[in-house]
Amino acid sequence: MPLIEVLLPIPLEKTYTYNVPATLPVPKRGMRVLVPFGRQKNMIGLVFNADIQSNLNPDKIKDIISVLDDEIVVTESQFWLWQWIAQYYICPLGDVMDFAMPNGLLKKNIDVETNVDFIQIADEYAEKEKIDTLLSQLQKTAKKQYNLFLFYLANCQNSDGSYQAIEKKQLLHESNATMPILQSLINKGIFTLKTESKLYNKIVEKIAIHRKLTPQQEKAVQLISTYFQQNKPTLLFGVTSSGKTEVYVHLIQQKLAENKNVLYLVPEIALTTQLQERLQSVFPNRVLAFHSRCSDSEKVRIYRTLLQSDQSYLVLGVRSSVFLPFQRLGLIIVDEEQDDSYKQQDPAPRYNARTVAVMLAKRHNANILLGTATPSIETYHLAQSEKYGLVKMTERYQSIAMPKIKIVDLTEQYHRKTMQGHFSDFLIERMQAELAKGKQIILFQNRRGYSPSLLCKTCGYVPKCPNCDVNLTYHKNSRQLHCHYCGYVTPQPAHCPNCKNVLTEQGFGTERLEEEIATIFPNARFERMDLDTTRRKNGHKNIINRFASHDIDILIGTQMITKGLHFDGVSLVGVLNADNLMIMPDFRSEEKTFQVLEQVAGRCGRQGEQGEVIIQTFQKTLPIFSYLEQHDYLGFYEEQIQARQLFHYPPFHRIIRVNIKHSNEQKLADFAMRIGMVLKQIFGSRCTNVIVPTIQKVNKMFIRHIIIKLGATENLTVAKEMLKKATDALCRENSSMNVYFDVDPI
Ligand code: ADP
Ligand code: ZN
Repeated sequence: MPLIEVLLPIPLEKTYTYNVPATLPVPKRGMRVLVPFGRQKNMIGLVFNADIQSNLNPDKIKDIISVLDDEIVVTESQFWLWQWIAQYYICPLGDVMDFAMPNGLLKKNIDVETNVDFIQIADEYAEKEKIDTLLSQLQKTAKKQYNLFLFYLANCQNSDGSYQAIEKKQLLHESNATMPILQSLINKGIFTLKTESKLYNKIVEKIAIHRKLTPQQEKAVQLISTYFQQNKPTLLFGVTSSGKTEVYVHLIQQKLAENKNVLYLVPEIALTTQLQERLQSVFPNRVLAFHSRCSDSEKVRIYRTLLQSDQSYLVLGVRSSVFLPFQRLGLIIVDEEQDDSYKQQDPAPRYNARTVAVMLAKRHNANILLGTATPSIETYHLAQSEKYGLVKMTERYQSIAMPKIKIVDLTEQYHRKTMQGHFSDFLIERMQAELAKGKQIILFQNRRGYSPSLLCKTCGYVPKCPNCDVNLTYHKNSRQLHCHYCGYVTPQPAHCPNCKNVLTEQGFGTERLEEEIATIFPNARFERMDLDTTRRKNGHKNIINRFASHDIDILIGTQMITKGLHFDGVSLVGVLNADNLMIMPDFRSEEKTFQVLEQVAGRCGRQGEQGEVIIQTFQKTLPIFSYLEQHDYLGFYEEQIQARQLFHYPPFHRIIRVNIKHSNEQKLADFAMRIGMVLKQIFGSRCTNVIVPTIQKVNKMFIRHIIIKLGATENLTVAKEMLKKATDALCRENSSMNVYFDVDPI
């Protein structure tokens, strides 16, 4: 009887043996099968090994229920990558499989293979005047249809004024309209209903704007090609607005012409609508956008397209797109390579997509280009030691000067009592001057909500999250307190529950800035862009488009506004408080601060004149600020790399963090102590004592860490095996303990 080995999407290392009954075809490795497992009657598994021998008692071997595929859905390259990840990141192969395969291929009852309905405004109505007439008619005669139509217009407009299609289900869900209302608009011929069988048809084709490379870009392309010929991963270190995108476009064009596929990784897709539209116009019908807001069916469609098609595509995707079934992969671009969001924190596999991308490229013999204006210390070190190619672009497009950076000393400002709210008089003056010239301004504050905490000044009471070891953030608009870690929400208390005195706001977030701007700049049009204002699918797009068309003068935002956006009219960027970027005790905190500030600075003065950046801080004398003032990345890098060497941090040492979690603090402390002792025996001084993290409880679970630092020359594989063996033994005795590893944590 034919036996097969099946991998299941569960947190287990091992595979399971099943029998293929004579009534079924024998599946190949990489096909899905339905199997009984434990109490579950049917689970989707993947054939890991077809046709094996087994010493198991044949009566104990269960039959598979059915074979789900005629063709493989997981390629050899994918299997290879999964196994590399399981080993490198010390996690079960079943976990990798569960994460790597799209939900639609793993869960039953998901109606993914059928076509999806899309709604789009009919061509004959897609003109401003007709829309206006229609709106005024509907407003008088059919209020609900009016609301739905308005919702569509607000959320589906491209930056060039045209309107795109939206999934019917999503439109109904987000607009709160019912099907009869939508049907009326379809019947009137205002909306058209389309059944799209292929995702990329959804995109309105636009004529590509051909751009000639500048001499600097031309040189960069040539040098990159030389490194590519030597099979070297290459770092493109180009200052903000040097036109890295044009360099990418050029390289992509070459690969697509050779019928190769290209993967273009970006930190977060929602923030790259401008990039997406640009790429779609240069490569019509070739761009597949893969991100968390894609529906399950869209994801399966992209997956199958790459698996089956002979055409070549450009996948514009977030970190998880490294798991797609690439064939003929010619090039990987990792844009903003330093970005934290390439690292997955939860669930397993806790991988870094930048690292995985390098392995993926290696496996496929593809080229890989890491691009950024502020390289991570690790990547720049690799480039300096010539393991990676290094290509620099030091000039901005059209030789516009780098923005002028001005550091404002908050200590002095508060002392002189020249602050209005959280604005220094200097910042206010500069803002007023720019607004008077009709320019736009970006304000960056790394906290959302109104204030990060409340305090009773009489008794010292601070509202805390019942589930987490953090203060609750006050959201004034919704009159609620929120936990930004577990999502807990509670109404704003009227007064201190202990002593009935008033609670005062501590610190400030984006909501509070909004309030202050309304008072200080009563005539300015402003908008806030943070997680709270952009939850809806097109929330970002909406704000970005309105800022781009200058319907907004001041854009206030969190980290979200620092990345990849390009606006012509921005002449001034204000950073309200640089200090709270550096409060976490972490060896990377200065590096991250430098990167974020250089990034946000890069948002201004991209067109025409030199821009200006005003950074407010209580720590004016820190060296990081003089490096920023000079835009001196190299100086900053030298200082950082020396510290890394001195204190045994990456890239000179590798870090593995053991995470231990449990709901009972005492049990956790005891268990962590035991693991700590065992690990000390193995790793000696390379392993820390048990560490209580700054935030020691999240979501009702207490947390402990043990950090292992391994020398760059040590055999990692052996060390990881020892680590796993030692902890596995202890975990078997304490199955309620949650223990996992974070390799190269950030
Ligand atoms: P970066 O990613 O390096 O910050 P971008 O790729 O966003 O820079 O380019 C900055 C601006 O310069 C964009 O508006 C882009 O369209 C423009 N630009 C860059 N290179 C060219 C070129 N060769 N021809 C025309 N416009 C260009
Ligand atoms: Zn919480």
